[in-house]
Amino acid sequence: MSYMAKKIVAGNWKMNKTLDEALILVSEVVNMVKDEVTGDVQVLLFPPALYVSTLKSYVKDAPMVSIGVQNIHQKASGAFTGEISAPMVKSLGLSHVLIGHSERREYFGETNEQLAEKVDIALANGLTPIFCCGESRDLRENHDYIGFVKNQLTESLFHLTAEDLRKIVIAYEPIWAIGTGLTASAEQAQEMHAALRGHLADKYGKELAADISILYGGSVGAGNAAELFAQPDVDGGLVGGASLKSRDFTEIIKAR
Ligand code: PGA
Repeated sequence: MSYMAKKIVAGNWKMNKTLDEALILVSEVVNMVKDEVTGDVQVLLFPPALYVSTLKSYVKDAPMVSIGVQNIHQKASGAFTGEISAPMVKSLGLSHVLIGHSERREYFGETNEQLAEKVDIALANGLTPIFCCGESRDLRENHDYIGFVKNQLTESLFHLTAEDLRKIVIAYEPIWAIGTGLTASAEQAQEMHAALRGHLADKYGKELAADISILYGGSVGAGNAAELFAQPDVDGGLVGGASLKSRDFTEIIKAR
């Protein structure tokens, strides 16, 4: 059970929005959150990295809202054209980073081993990794999909000390549900979240496992968020498409 875990709703903007559009979206989200959201939910926004410095100043009066980045390189600095590093993110005073999103795994070939290195450098720089995991449709239909996702955790996280593991947030995102309009049912989400929490408990103990926030992602919208978030092991959501619309995103936050 996850009653101890922090409640989080995160918006992954991916490669969307011009600067002007981003400023409108962040302003609307901040205003709606300030006016309408009560309770102890943490709201994280992951805009394109180009905008994070500018957008940061827009959330400073909304303590519930923080900005993060969608990816970091596993090295601290060097000849890696186009990349950004954990020390750079830290130097902007940002706190969160997505690691291992399925689009990074699929289109940029990120492996569990590389993601372990990204987790390490994020933690070494005081950043909170939102570690993404999830199975493809083929895995779900034909193979041991729970074992596959557990193994993603084992290979990228289980080298961590208990103290460091406690700083991780996990986002379960079945690939077949991302951007497809096909959400996992509340039962499917709960089944996987409970299995992952059990996997964490086997390695790190029940108490620590209960403290880890496990978010669900994959076509979360205003219409299905409440049912998903009502599951005992679902501590919030990582939202893609619906986070690009301030009204939808706010309704999702309110559902948490
Ligand atoms: P989606 O994306 O909500 O558009 O399905 C979720 C994600 O990729 O994080």
